[in-house]
Amino acid sequence: MRKLTDKPVSHVVNTHWHQDHVVGDQVYRDAFPGVEIVASSKARATLAAKSEETRKLYLTAGPEYSTSLRSAVEKKTSFLGTPMTADEDASYLAAAGLIDRYVAEAPEMRTTLPTLTVDDKLVLHRGDRTIEIRSLGRGHTDNDLIVFLPKEGVVVAGDLVVAPVPLTGDQSFIGDWAGTLERLLALKPAVIVPGHGPVLRDDGHVKLMIELLSSMTTQTKAAVAKGETLEQARKSVDLGAFRKRLCGESRSLLLIFETYVAGAGVAKAFAEATGKE
Ligand SMILES: [Zn+2]
Repeated sequence: MRKLTDKPVSHVVNTHWHQDHVVGDQVYRDAFPGVEIVASSKARATLAAKSEETRKLYLTAGPEYSTSLRSAVEKKTSFLGTPMTADEDASYLAAAGLIDRYVAEAPEMRTTLPTLTVDDKLVLHRGDRTIEIRSLGRGHTDNDLIVFLPKEGVVVAGDLVVAPVPLTGDQSFIGDWAGTLERLLALKPAVIVPGHGPVLRDDGHVKLMIELLSSMTTQTKAAVAKGETLEQARKSVDLGAFRKRLCGESRSLLLIFETYVAGAGVAKAFAEATGKE
C-alpha cells in the first residue's frame, strides 16, 4: 500500500467477523490511530463475544491440523483417501504454511473492535468517488457487508462470493444466500472481488453459486419432507453436476467442495429445512 500512496488509511471494512478477515485490524489501528473500522453490528457483537475463544481454538487445533497435512504429503495419500496429486501436494503444503504462520503470530493478536457499525447502508462521498458500504442480506454469515463503487462498477464481496469453490458452512444461511447474490448482481458489477480467489470480471460464477445454493435448499427441503435423516439426505442430495463445474479435475478443490459444500453446507441447509437455524 505504501508503494501506491502516502495517504493515511481512513476506513477499514470488515465484510464479516471471521479471523482471516479481521486479524489485520490491529495493524491498521497502530499505524493510523484515527482509522474507522467498519462492520455490521452483528459482526461487532460476535467479535466481542467469540474472537478470543476462536483464536484459542485455532491455536490448539492448528498445529495438529498442519501436522496431519504434512504427513498426508509424506504418505502421498490425500484426505480423500486417494493418491496425492501435484495440485493437492502444493495446496496441502501452502495450507500448512499458513496455519503455522497463524499459530506463530496469534499470541500477538488482539481483538480490535469495529468503531463504526453499518446494518443497512453507509455512503461516503470523497471527491468524485462514491463508496457504498452495504448489507444485502444473510449468506456466508448473518453479518456480511459488501463495498460497492457505483461509478466504477466494483463490488468487494467478502466471502459472499468465493472462487472457485464457495465457502458454505454452519454459520451460513443457505436458504437466504441466493437472494442476497441476486441483489448483488442487480448492482450490475463489472468487477467482483471475492473474499478468496481471483477477481471476477463477469457474473458467471455468481450465477453458478445461485444455482448451487438454490439446489441445496430445494433438495434438502425435499429430503426433510420425505422424512429422511441427515445421513440419508447426504446420499440423496445430488450435487454431482456442481462438483464437476466448480472443481474440474482438481482434487484439492474437490476436498474443499466435500468439506464446505457437501459437508457443512448440506448439514446447515438440512438444519434450516427442519426449522433449526
Ligand atoms: Zn469467512
